[in-house]
Amino acid sequence: MVLVLFIAIMGVAENAAALMLEMSLEELASGADSIIVGQVLHRKSHWNRDKTEIYTRVVISTEERLKGSAHSGNIVIAVPGGQIGDTTVEVTDVPDFSIGEKVVVFLRPLTDKQVAEDGLVNTGDDVPWFQIHGGFQGKFSVLDDKVGTLPLMKFKERISNALTGGFPSHPESLNMLDSESLSSIATISGITPSSASAGTNTLITISGSNLGTSPGTPYFYYKDNGYYGCSSCVSSWSDSDVVVKVPIFTASNGYSATAGSGPVYLTNPAGDKSNSFPFTVTFSYGGIRWTGASPVVEFKVNPNGDDAILKAVQNAADTWNSVPNQRFSFKYAGTTSVAKTTTNKINEIIWANLQPGVIGQTSIRSSGGVISECDIAFNKNFNWSTNASTPNDAMDVHTIALHEMGHWLNLRDLYGNVSGYPTDIDKIMYGYGNYGMQKRSLTDNDGRGMRYIYPDADPCGASLTLTDSAYRLFVPIVNTNPNLWVDFQYDPASSSNMMFRLANSGQTANPSDYSTCQPSTLSLVDSNYILHIPELLFNGISYRVDLTYVPTTDGRIWFMPSGVWTN
Ligand SMILES: [Zn+2]
Repeated sequence: MVLVLFIAIMGVAENAAALMLEMSLEELASGADSIIVGQVLHRKSHWNRDKTEIYTRVVISTEERLKGSAHSGNIVIAVPGGQIGDTTVEVTDVPDFSIGEKVVVFLRPLTDKQVAEDGLVNTGDDVPWFQIHGGFQGKFSVLDDKVGTLPLMKFKERISNALTGGFPSHPESLNMLDSESLSSIATISGITPSSASAGTNTLITISGSNLGTSPGTPYFYYKDNGYYGCSSCVSSWSDSDVVVKVPIFTASNGYSATAGSGPVYLTNPAGDKSNSFPFTVTFSYGGIRWTGASPVVEFKVNPNGDDAILKAVQNAADTWNSVPNQRFSFKYAGTTSVAKTTTNKINEIIWANLQPGVIGQTSIRSSGGVISECDIAFNKNFNWSTNASTPNDAMDVHTIALHEMGHWLNLRDLYGNVSGYPTDIDKIMYGYGNYGMQKRSLTDNDGRGMRYIYPDADPCGASLTLTDSAYRLFVPIVNTNPNLWVDFQYDPASSSNMMFRLANSGQTANPSDYSTCQPSTLSLVDSNYILHIPELLFNGISYRVDLTYVPTTDGRIWFMPSGVWTN
């Protein structure tokens, strides 16, 4: 099963992350009612009729119909999630659409019953609703007349072959990526550190020879033999050293993606490719969180007629809770009988009829970077097991709950599985799974991700003072060796956020060590000021600081470090 996206029924909204069975092009093509090549004309997010869910209505012109009943006019697609006013809905596993974008989409009609149940409201044009088949797997972007590196003509041929059974079924059939190696003398000989997290502004140095003097593009492994090239991630580039931020990104199909473990390589501006070098992504963080330094997130469970399920889900929660040196906890709050997830300020774990192939789906509801509610729907069409040993035809409740709860923390799926390189396969946040799979404990790296977002640290005061018309933020840092303090200066040049830049530190160091410090942001979150100071490099070691504003009545401004640690 792939932890891929899935767009199932509209019932689940906002940020949906799903655990799915991976679908081949044949499965996508045969399961789709219609396959359309077209252009996105319009997209707009709406509340459903009951104002319990947000969905995005996407209108696509039909340039070409490769299969099915969809009529030749405009097609209307319902995509879970969206954004209305202050409520941001980041849908991690659901495809996104941009106006003007050319796409190939695999569609299934929404029945009148589904439309009524989900409360979808058609605005004017009386046309049927469709949903994307197979979640983000069922949407392909066409750029410069290509799907990935494959010409659109060729891709249509593959679809046609898949429909007529003339194409052998193998997983590579979806690999659109250019795997030819280009000749180059650029050679990577090391990556420091050899493992790092993604989505945390962490910088790594790729060292080697003949890397070129003009900045090129670093490539990180993503999934299914696909790589993500990120020229904007480059912090500095010389012939022997390239400093790069480990990226998270939105894939072309809208999936909330990340660099994963596996090969890393560079290309120069001419496109010449270096050798591949092994690199480990420890965890990936999407950047939003529950409020407060020590959140307690209560959840209710629909036992689906089997009390052993309650125990299995609680065991999964306890597995996360037992990660040391972190301040987040899941808390069981009893049973629920609801059969549909909605925005109701209750975190629910329920059972629903989801699309074929979808094992489970998490919805993350957030506003202004703060998570307000999460729900999980398990697909009741699968066999589920709570046995000590999981049968080969069943899904293990503890395993799937553990993975989905990782999404409640806003950890992202990792897909590294290239043999001969570091992989993500053992991690609970590995994005693929299968029948009989049992992973009831976390790897150190899964726990590391949780600790990064909700760190436990000794509180000590940091103070913000106004000196010579500049705000200086003094942060005494404890529990590092050597102990450090840092001094940040407010940078009024920034547009929307308050930005702090490193001005000074309590240890002598090579000044160039500070050149890579990223701007920090101060945000107001549920009346708490949260200051995130991303990675700073100090004598070759990277440190990160998270501070929470502590209201006082003595006229001073205090921040309590909620985390200081090395990566
Ligand atoms: Zn997942």
